[in-house]
Amino acid sequence: MKTEFSPTQLADPDIAEADKILRKCVHCGFCTATCPTYVLLGDELDSPRGRIYLIKEMLEKDQKPTQEVVKHIDRCLSCLSCMTTCPSGVNYMHLVDQARVKIEKEYVRPLPERLLRDVLAFVLPRPALFRLSMTMARLARPLAALLPSTRKQANPNLLSRVKAMLTMAPRALPPAGPAGGSVFPAIGPRRARVALLQGCAQQVLAPRINDAAIRLLTRHGVEVVLVRDEQCCGALTHHLGRDGDALARAKANIGVWLGEADRGGLDAILVTASGCGTVIKDYGYMLREDPEFAAPAVKVSALAKDISEYVSSLDLPKPVSQSNLVVAYHSACSLQHGQKITQAPKELLSKNGFVVKDIPESHLCCGSAGTYNLLQPDIASRLRDRKVANIASIKPDVIAAGNIGCMVQIAGGTDVPVVHTIELLDWATGGPRPGLN
Ligand code: SF4
Ligand code: SF4
Repeated sequence: MKTEFSPTQLADPDIAEADKILRKCVHCGFCTATCPTYVLLGDELDSPRGRIYLIKEMLEKDQKPTQEVVKHIDRCLSCLSCMTTCPSGVNYMHLVDQARVKIEKEYVRPLPERLLRDVLAFVLPRPALFRLSMTMARLARPLAALLPSTRKQANPNLLSRVKAMLTMAPRALPPAGPAGGSVFPAIGPRRARVALLQGCAQQVLAPRINDAAIRLLTRHGVEVVLVRDEQCCGALTHHLGRDGDALARAKANIGVWLGEADRGGLDAILVTASGCGTVIKDYGYMLREDPEFAAPAVKVSALAKDISEYVSSLDLPKPVSQSNLVVAYHSACSLQHGQKITQAPKELLSKNGFVVKDIPESHLCCGSAGTYNLLQPDIASRLRDRKVANIASIKPDVIAAGNIGCMVQIAGGTDVPVVHTIELLDWATGGPRPGLN
């Protein structure tokens, strides 16, 4: 794609980066066929190619984001399916991230929406506050029936978003998991020492996921550390375009993780929520212009591993139980498109006694996408229904996924139990049976 940035514009490293990305796009449109919003809405401006044009115009002419541009960028899930499809290697992720930052800085959203985004950006990364908000949402859940339906509102309003939030509130919350600073020694000779990201929403909604990871890792000779003073990885605010908050969190985490590595050694930083893993693996890029943090960020990104990626490298012994349960493996977008990890989780499950089935249209997002299901409830619920119907077509006993957001989203539309891949692997290798009804 031909671009026309001026030399003055190109002196800005972000614009120079956008220019590089835009020039790779050859308008072929292959990406449109695999873009969930284009598949649902059929509007070119809700396709990756359409959004790339909108972003190009906005950046090239140095225009303030218009309502139209914001609408179509907001509808993007950042699922990155387009990046998997694109034959030219267009880094849509870095382009749309830049557009979101510009929108956040220069576009004035209506007051209720601004307030809602402020609340999400403040509450979600703070587990104590998130727990409190979930308790309140659970009590207010009956009110959801009184609010207008989220369906058929491609331009959602505050009430439909509140309804989506109340509907998604869990009926009960499990007790909190172990605190930061905890160390879980390896059982038997120690072969490695890793940090395990505690996560924010996940540690409130499903601490059982990291419990399973800790059991499996320690049983196989890996010491696990929950690093003290670790924060939210920044993914939630990063996707809201709030790069100041996201970068501050990234820097704080880099400091505590590398501090832990200096003190006790770290072979990896493991992540059980693939949405977080994708962002941590991108810290090196996000902080590339920061003289103090650029190099440490690259180091941290290199240490970051998805749990399935790491467990694959452990070469697990034969499973202690062979369940033969049929598992529908849901490949989270952040894992398959963001981190390009597609086979490892399925191979691990197969080797450990499960019958793994691919879900039709597995490249399409389930609609979770960070805060997307709260901000765009209509599109999100249509994608969830499509995903659940595809899952039902293969008649599984259980659904496995590697990302808490997907697990909550899918569980909202099906009675089939939804668990994290690591819970099944833990069970097969000697851990307790996860809640499968
Ligand atoms: S990230 Fe997903 S929703 Fe956004 S343009 Fe790409 S394929 Fe479409
Ligand atoms: S597939 Fe890649 S090159 Fe083709 S239009 Fe989409 S982003 Fe551009």
